[in-house]
Amino acid sequence: MRTAMQLRADGAMTIFDLRRAYHDSLSNMRGWLGDTSLSGRLTVLDRLSILDAWQQEMVEFFERHGHCFSCSRRLSRCRCPRVS
Ligand SMILES: [Zn+2]
Repeated sequence: MRTAMQLRADGAMTIFDLRRAYHDSLSNMRGWLGDTSLSGRLTVLDRLSILDAWQQEMVEFFERHGHCFSCSRRLSRCRCPRVS
C-alpha cells in the first residue's frame, strides 16, 4: 500500500508530499480524538498537550525533510524566526 510517508526514489519529499502527510496525520488525529471509545477519558488539558506534541512532531518532520512548517518554504529560503 502506498502511503504519503513513502519516499520518492531519490529519497526526497516535496512540499506536496509533506502537506499530504500532514493532512493525513491531522485527520487521523481528529478521528482518534473524536472517537470517545478511544479518547473519552481524556481531559481538555490532555487533548491540548497531545495536540501540542503532535504539532511539534510535524514541525520536526517538515524540518527533517528540508521544509519550514510555518511558511512551507525550503529551510534555506525560510525567514521565519526559529523557536528552538
Ligand atoms: Zn518559514
